[in-house]
Amino acid sequence: MTKKKNSPFKFAVIITLFLFAVLTALVIVNNKTSETNTDTSFETQPSIEGQPTLGDTDAPVTVVEFGDFKCPACKAWGETVFPQLIEDYVDTGDVKFAYVNVLFHGDESKLGSVAAEAIYKQNPDSYWEFHKNLFKEQPETDHDSAWITMDKINEIAGSIPGIDLKMLQEDMQSQLVINNVNKDEILVNEFKVQQTPSIMVNGTMLTDPFDYEQIKILINKELEDSK
Ligand code: CA
Repeated sequence: MTKKKNSPFKFAVIITLFLFAVLTALVIVNNKTSETNTDTSFETQPSIEGQPTLGDTDAPVTVVEFGDFKCPACKAWGETVFPQLIEDYVDTGDVKFAYVNVLFHGDESKLGSVAAEAIYKQNPDSYWEFHKNLFKEQPETDHDSAWITMDKINEIAGSIPGIDLKMLQEDMQSQLVINNVNKDEILVNEFKVQQTPSIMVNGTMLTDPFDYEQIKILINKELEDSK
């Protein structure tokens, strides 16, 4: 008789214990996720002076991409995360976006960067089209093959209105352009860039540049703090 009386109570205890175990497991999993999501904070944010920049110059939050024209992940980032970022935050005036060259793939990275900086010097309005079209020319497979050549640069630049090819050649030799590429390398070292693309939201470097939810969280937090 006592047995019968006790059993619903026992059942309730078992259910409670089971729910408790499930909740504990969830908390542990959650903590693990946030541990692996630790982004790196710097005391300062990269200076974007002289860098190609999109958006309102007074935008309260700055997103910087450290990218390499030879890097497949940068091409992928530019085609997936970048358009969302522009639509959600740059077009609304909340974020300004700047691009800094990384030369991890050697001479071709450098040639592409020098050309891009020269176009920015000649006509900042033409820069982003060149930037996009150069990434577009990156081979889908065998991206290690040599493809950033002077011929390719002339072909792309020649198809964009507002770019003078002779001036481009001259600017690519200019000290200002060389200095701008060197300036990028200094930022790469200062912010300990290890991978491309690397994405910074103000002073925070993301662990996973493709985690757009995390990018949103960081931007929204910075927007809140700027109020
Ligand atoms: Ca630059």
